[in-house]
Amino acid sequence: MYSNKTDPIAIVAAARPAAVDTQAIQKLDAAHYMHAFTDTKALAGVGARVIVKGQGIYIWDSEGKRLLDGMSGLWCMNVGYGRKSIADAAYAQMQELPYYNSFFQTTNVPAVKLAAKLVEISPPQFNHVFFTGSGSEGNDTNLRLVRRYWDLMGFPDRNIIISRENAYHGSTIAGASLGGMSGMHDQQVGVTIPNIVHIGQPYYVEGGKGMTPEEFGLVAAGWLEKKILELGAEKVAAFIGEPVQGAGGVIIPPSTYWPEIQRICDKYGILLIADEVICGFGRLGTWFGSEYFGIKPDLMTFAKGVTSGYVPLGGVLVGDRIANVLIESGGDFNHGFTYSGHPVACAAALENIRILQEEKLVEQVHNVTGPYLKKKFAELNDHPLVSIAETCGFAAGLNLVKKKGATLHECVPFESSQDVGMICRGHMFGNGMIMRAVGDRMIIAPPLVTTIAEIDEMVALIRSCLDATLADLQKRGYMA
Ligand SMILES: *Cc1c(COP(=O)(O)O)cnc(C)c1O
Repeated sequence: MYSNKTDPIAIVAAARPAAVDTQAIQKLDAAHYMHAFTDTKALAGVGARVIVKGQGIYIWDSEGKRLLDGMSGLWCMNVGYGRKSIADAAYAQMQELPYYNSFFQTTNVPAVKLAAKLVEISPPQFNHVFFTGSGSEGNDTNLRLVRRYWDLMGFPDRNIIISRENAYHGSTIAGASLGGMSGMHDQQVGVTIPNIVHIGQPYYVEGGKGMTPEEFGLVAAGWLEKKILELGAEKVAAFIGEPVQGAGGVIIPPSTYWPEIQRICDKYGILLIADEVICGFGRLGTWFGSEYFGIKPDLMTFAKGVTSGYVPLGGVLVGDRIANVLIESGGDFNHGFTYSGHPVACAAALENIRILQEEKLVEQVHNVTGPYLKKKFAELNDHPLVSIAETCGFAAGLNLVKKKGATLHECVPFESSQDVGMICRGHMFGNGMIMRAVGDRMIIAPPLVTTIAEIDEMVALIRSCLDATLADLQKRGYMA
C-alpha cells in the first residue's frame, strides 16, 4: 500500500558521495568529452558539474552538494536512484549470460520474458515487441515499420509521415527528422529524411488566444486534417506524436485534442504512432500516455522509464494491425541492432517493472501524489513571475512572464534574448533544485517515488528559487 515514506529496504542505505577531485575531472571533461546538446567551448569556461551519487529523488555532486532531481535524470529515473534490486538483477544476468544476439534464430530468456511482460501491461492491440538500444532507434524502427507496412499492403506511395513542430523524437537522423526541433533541423541540412512534414503543436499558451482550451484542442487537431487533405490522404502513411510533448516544454494538450486526432487518423486510415518514451511507464499516472488520453495507437515507442534509465534500452510495441501484415506476408524484416533484446538490459527492465507494480507507483501517481502535485504546483500561479503553472500526472510546466495580465494571453513575455529561463535554471541549480528551462517555460518530471512530503519540499524550493529569480531580474532591469 501507499505510504508517505520511501521504503528503506528497497533503497541502498547511506548516501555518501565518493571522494572525487572535481577540478581534475572537470579538466579532463573539458579536454576530451563532447557532451550532448552542449557548446563545448562555453562549458569548458565554466566547468561541468560532476554528479557522483544518487539516492531516491536526490543526487549529489562531487562537492557534496545535494540536488533534488526534479527531472528524473532525463525523464527516466521513474523508480528513483539507488535500487539495489535492479543492480542485483543486472549483476546476476551478467554472470549467467552477459550478451547474446537474436539474429541467428536465437533468443534469450530475459528478452522473451520482457516482451511478454510489455504485452501484458500495454493496451490489448499490442502483442509484439521490437527491441532497440534507445528511443531514437525506436523511432528509426517506426519509420521502417510504417514504410514496410504500406509496401506490403500494396500502397508504396503512402509514405508521408506527419509530425509536429517542437516535437522530440530523438537525435539520430530519423529521430531528428521526425522531430520538430528547428535548432536540430538547421544543423542537418541535406540529410533530413524526406516525406516528413510538420503541423503546429497543441500549445494553448501560444496558439489559444480568444478560445477556451477545449476549442483550441479541436482547432489544433484540425491542422492534421487540413494537412492530410492538402497532401492527399492516399499519400499519408502515419501521424506521430508524444501524448504530452516532453523536451518541447511539457506541452499538455487540451482534453479535446487526442480524441479528435484519433478520429481523423481513423477516418483516413492513417497509422497512429504514440512516442511514449517519456509518457510510458507511469509518467502520467497511467502505464502509457495513450491510456491517459484514450487513444489507440498502432505503434508505441518506449525507452527511458522502461529501465528507469539504469541501463539503456528502447523499443517499439507493434500493434496487431501492423504485426499481422508483416508476419503473414513472410520474408525478413531487414532491420535490427547488435543490442536488440540485450539480456542485461531486459533483466534490469523486468526488475524495474516489478518494482513499479509491487509498489503500485503508477496507481500512486494517479490517485495520490499526482493530484497532490497538481494542487501544490497550481499554488505557484500566484507568483508574480508565473503566468500559468500546470501539471499532467508527474510532468509539470510553468511560464515566466515579465508582466501578468488579466488573462493568460494578456501576459507580457520577456525578450527571448534575455534568456530568462536559463537565469531561473541557474537559481534552481544553485539552490539545490533541478528544474529544466525550455525557453521561458520551466519544467519538471520528478521520479514517481516522490512522496507527499518531498512534493512539499520541492514546491517550496521552486518558490524560493522563483523569488531569487525575481530579485535578480529586477536588479538586471528586466522587469519593474
Ligand atoms: C528522449 C526521447 C527520445 C529519444 O530517446 P533516446 O534514448 O535519447 O534516443 C525519443 N522520443 C522522446 C519523446 C523522448 O523524450
